[in-house]
Order: sequence, then C-alpha cells, then structure tokens
Amino acid sequence: MADFPPAMQRLIAEFSRLPSIGEKSATRLAYYLLNSNRELAQSLSEALRKAVTAVRLCERCFFLSEEPLCAICRNPNRDNTTLCLVEKPMDLVAVERVGEYKGYYHVLHGLWAPLKGQGPESMRLKELIERVKAGGIAEVIIATSSTVEGDATAMYVARILGELGVKTSRLAQGIPKGGELEYSDEITLSRAFSGRSVISP
Ligand SMILES: [Zn+2]
Repeated sequence: MADFPPAMQRLIAEFSRLPSIGEKSATRLAYYLLNSNRELAQSLSEALRKAVTAVRLCERCFFLSEEPLCAICRNPNRDNTTLCLVEKPMDLVAVERVGEYKGYYHVLHGLWAPLKGQGPESMRLKELIERVKAGGIAEVIIATSSTVEGDATAMYVARILGELGVKTSRLAQGIPKGGELEYSDEITLSRAFSGRSVISP
C-alpha cells in the first residue's frame, strides 16, 4: 500500500498534534506547503525557529517578551500603582488594544479550577503576591474572564490580596457571562474597565 514519503508523514503527524487540527487538515496543510507554496514553507519554518528561540516570558509580569523584561515593564511612564491581572497573554493584548489602561500587568498563566485538579500552584500567584508585598501597588484590577473558573479565581485572589491590605476590583459584568476576555470587543472592554467594582478590602 502506497503512503506519503516518510518526511511528509512526519510533517502530517506534527501538524496533527496542534490544537483543533485533525489528520485530514494536517494532510491538507502539509500537501499545500510541499506542493503549492514552498516559499511559505521556508518562511514559516524560519519564523517558527526564530520565535521559539527568541520569545520567552517577562521576568516580572510573565507576558511574552524577547528581552528579560517585556516592552510594557520596560516603559517607565506607566502608572506603577496599578496592576491588571489577566489569565493569559492574549487577554493582555486585548486590554492594550482598548488603549485606556495605563498601569502594569500580571499574567497568571492559568486559573484556579479545583474540579480540574488545578490548584493555586497552577498559576503565577506566588509571584503576584511577592510583587504586591514589595509595596507601591494601590489597586489590583482582576480581569479574568467571566467564566466559572475566572470568577472563582477572582474571588480567591481578592481574598488573599485583601488580607495584604491591597484594594482589588473586578471588571464590570459587561463581559457576557461565560465570555472570554480575549474575544470581547473594545467598547465592551472599555466599559467593563470604567465600571469595575471593588471586591476588597
Ligand atoms: Zn512584563
């Protein structure tokens, strides 16, 4: 029985490991790159190699960066009394796109989801607490998505930060219930920010 050449089979197998790519799509992609668009195949492999080598997490806020500190953390002109807490880098980009928030960020890289076996250690919470304990932060705006896990994380974090005496607020429920922050439009996000409510202390 004839099959694709081994190198192509490997490419198909690697594509199939990507989220939401089945074997059929993987085969189509591999065939397209090899058969119709060799130039794209070359630049794709270069871009991938470069990104994997160059991009890492910011040492302070855990956003993506090519330097030890990301462009936002390197900017001295932002408001250093406010932190916006988001789940993932895509959420930070969504908030930045609105262009109104001028403070710094902290990216959790996870949510508190006890039913899925994800405890507090599954997110960058320890680092957040250290940043808050270092002083100078007057308010932490919790901008986790309006999902069960996003809400649970917000309440959990607010309780801990409240004990440290830091004001925490939560985005207004303009974000549709179950809505992911990264897919919210700019007007909705802007309203959610200005209508945010204090949780603690
Ligand atoms: Zn940073």
